Amino acid sequence: MLLMGPTDTETEVGNMKKMKYVLVTGGVVSGLGKGVTASSIGLLLKACGLRVTCIKIDPYLNNDAGTMSPFEHGEVFVLDDGGEVDLDLGNYERFLDVKLTRDNNITTGKIYQFVLDKERKGDYLGKTVQVVPHITDAIQEWIERVAMIPVDGKEGPADVCVIELGGTIGDIESMPFIEALGQFSCRVGAGNFCLIHVSLVPVLNVVGEQKTKPTQHSVRGLRGLGLAPNILACRSTTALDDNVKEKLSQFCNVSAEHIITLYDVPNIWHIPLLLRDQKAHEAIFKVLNLPSVTKEPSLKEWTTRAEICDKLHEPVRICIVGKYTGLSDTYLSILKALLHASVACGKKLFVDWVPASDLEDMAEKENPDAYKAAWKLLKSADGVVVPGGFGDRGVQGKILAAKHARENRIPYLGICLGMQIAVIEFARSVLGLKDANSTEFDPNTRSPCVIFMPEGSKTHMGGTMRLGSRRTYFQAPDSKSVKLYGNRSFIDERHRHRFEVNPDMVAQLENGGLSFTGKDETGQRMEIVELPDHPYYIGVQFHPEFKSRPGKPCALFLGLIAAACGELDGVLGEKVECEIVNCPSNKKVYQNGFATKPENIIRDSVYSYCNGVHS
Ligand code: GLN
Repeated sequence: MLLMGPTDTETEVGNMKKMKYVLVTGGVVSGLGKGVTASSIGLLLKACGLRVTCIKIDPYLNNDAGTMSPFEHGEVFVLDDGGEVDLDLGNYERFLDVKLTRDNNITTGKIYQFVLDKERKGDYLGKTVQVVPHITDAIQEWIERVAMIPVDGKEGPADVCVIELGGTIGDIESMPFIEALGQFSCRVGAGNFCLIHVSLVPVLNVVGEQKTKPTQHSVRGLRGLGLAPNILACRSTTALDDNVKEKLSQFCNVSAEHIITLYDVPNIWHIPLLLRDQKAHEAIFKVLNLPSVTKEPSLKEWTTRAEICDKLHEPVRICIVGKYTGLSDTYLSILKALLHASVACGKKLFVDWVPASDLEDMAEKENPDAYKAAWKLLKSADGVVVPGGFGDRGVQGKILAAKHARENRIPYLGICLGMQIAVIEFARSVLGLKDANSTEFDPNTRSPCVIFMPEGSKTHMGGTMRLGSRRTYFQAPDSKSVKLYGNRSFIDERHRHRFEVNPDMVAQLENGGLSFTGKDETGQRMEIVELPDHPYYIGVQFHPEFKSRPGKPCALFLGLIAAACGELDGVLGEKVECEIVNCPSNKKVYQNGFATKPENIIRDSVYSYCNGVHS
């Protein structure tokens, strides 16, 4: 029924390579780690020598994640092309070391907008425009088009496209996508489409029995919608018993070798290894009719890193002073970047979340316990991060945190709003401009040290965000930032902001002791600010966290962690551009900047895979 398309040999006519698709769906409950599973599958295939791209489908109506509250949905991930997308695309970029485009994130909003625009143009020639076939066709065409875009820096399309369908099977919103994907499996034909269903096998505490019924039901639901799973990836606390696998196999019509358990592991780097150990790649190749891929997955670095990570014990405490500290996903890429850096430094990361408003004077009166707790955490931190943000809630608390870090010589990294905060604090405390502010928070301030500087229209707020990759040119050869970035003359980092340091106040701020060590090509936009006589006090207008990768930790986070551990000199003295070295012994992490043991090169971040809890 589903696998009725042309055979593989038929489709490879004229040596035209046919794209292979791996669809990842989720059942039973949300939050199973479908994104991490899909990324790990991609990584496993890449480790077998295939080129992999990916698409995330989010069945919500928003056009993109740009307008969504980080409280609800976690961080908005920003791509090179300025796409504001679901945070799962961050996982893909980090695991696969690729650069995705905004079109790699499909939403219901995007598809409907595309179809409705066509309808307005009269492209449907008077036909009734319907979910089937118009929406479903648009979905399939979108997938086929985007799958062809190379994302790994090489030419030509990838070999495999991993598609993750967000949400849980049975959601109303995902119906058109399920329908489209059912049709798509026929369209691309047998041997070119593999469906992996991620499900849950709960263990009942009383009897300790692994229960298969929820998975049976969700597979039945999937089949009822016209999709048959080829592989089941079952989340459970422990490995599935053989008889449980047998039962699942019988009731779900999936052979027992195609049933994988994703049991709880101490950090997510183990997930690709779990998949490899259970030969998920072989099952996928069988379904995708790829007998010629015989290369065993090379995951040596991942294995080493996963093991080293479990053993880290020397702590580094970083305090994140933010607005949305209730949900750690809000600052997911920052957490990953901190982890990449701390693992590279051989340190175990502890993150203390401090709600910025708890540091404010008002909190002392209204909520003294929270106030005391917040200050206690801030004072015990080895390093402070003030992340990006919008709106004035907690701004005063962030200013106090920046002041505390500056005066007490605690390493500080301010990102986007965190950079603007550092400048405002400096103008107030050092230059004595008591009402210095950003016009975002006080449009009438007499000392507007941060102002609205749109790249386009000055009158229209809509579409005025400076988004995506922009170039920063280093200004001072002896600055910490340029050294951390390996003495390059420029860097390209991702942006997402409207306001910027007021160029008319730069001279005054520099006379006071601040140093703007990175600027855009016009010299008008301040990109990096530093306090040269502070152990580590850096603010950046961009978001370097989005490009931090396993094994290639972001230079500025590496600097922060190294400074927080008192090891910055070692890092600055070396060529940090090279891959970062970790000694499992935890003794001396940086040895002249080059790997002494190649197997110890560290890539990626660590989180507990279970329940999204950070380890
Ligand atoms: N709200 C600030 C601006 O628009 C900072 C944005 C951010 O931190 N991403 O410039």
